[in-house]
Amino acid sequence: MARVAVVTGGTRGIGEAISIALKNAGYTVAANYAGNDERARAFTERTGISAYKWDVSDFDACVAGVKRIEAERGPVDVIVNNAGITRDGTMKKMTRTAWDDVMDTNLGGCFNMCKAAWDGMNERKFGRIVNIGSINGQAGQYGQVNYAAAKSGIHGFTKALAQEGARAGITVNAIAPGYIDTDMVAAVPPDVLAKIVARIPVGRLGHADEIARGVLFLVADEGGFVTGSTMSINGGQHMY
Ligand code: NDP
Repeated sequence: MARVAVVTGGTRGIGEAISIALKNAGYTVAANYAGNDERARAFTERTGISAYKWDVSDFDACVAGVKRIEAERGPVDVIVNNAGITRDGTMKKMTRTAWDDVMDTNLGGCFNMCKAAWDGMNERKFGRIVNIGSINGQAGQYGQVNYAAAKSGIHGFTKALAQEGARAGITVNAIAPGYIDTDMVAAVPPDVLAKIVARIPVGRLGHADEIARGVLFLVADEGGFVTGSTMSINGGQHMY
């Protein structure tokens, strides 16, 4: 039977590319999203992949979402924690709400989803978890203390959970993308983006498909020895 994979934020951007790549590789994919029904509907029509709406920052909603997918599709063996938001601002301007929203979604969502699927993965002695971090969690970024802290947290979370899952056949890895041409990056002012691209050794933004290829490698059944790692897919940018 095909393995069931849940991709959070799986209906557009990087998540969409991951959902499609997993489907093409033979997985049964459930793509979660937060609120953009129109994009989710278009995604399902285009790909045939079912979309499931809930907020990953809501613990109970994550538990209910995983339960529903397991009832409809079968045990969840693969989770890709991709859902993420930005609420940028310098420390001078950043509100406590902007901090909480980003921490609760980008890092809290990762905890919520892993917790919801953890017992089942342990019972079946198999699991593949991939957490999408960011180059900015490794290097920091002006105006992003919330985002950089949450993404940096993802890398620590990944290494710690990998140790807990290792003997149960559960691998936990992270991907740290560089700048990828999605809606999230389209929101960056053009002059700022031009400066960012100038610093990328390959001289261009990455494509969502390039991140999806990394996910396919990390979720492979044969990948049991690859755990606790962070794969940087960033066009060669130097990490500090
Ligand atoms: P997009 O903004 O294009 O898409 C974000 C997706 O996440 C959407 O499907 C959105 O749902 C979903 N989402 C947002 N908040 C929630 C929530 N609370 N619950 C459930 N789903 C949610 O983002 P990208 O594709 O650019 O980014 C994907 C991931 O990659 C993020 O974690 C981001 O931080 C990370 N990343 C992106 C980089 C880039 O350059 N683009 C670089 C490095 C990391 P909806 O459609 O309903 O809004």
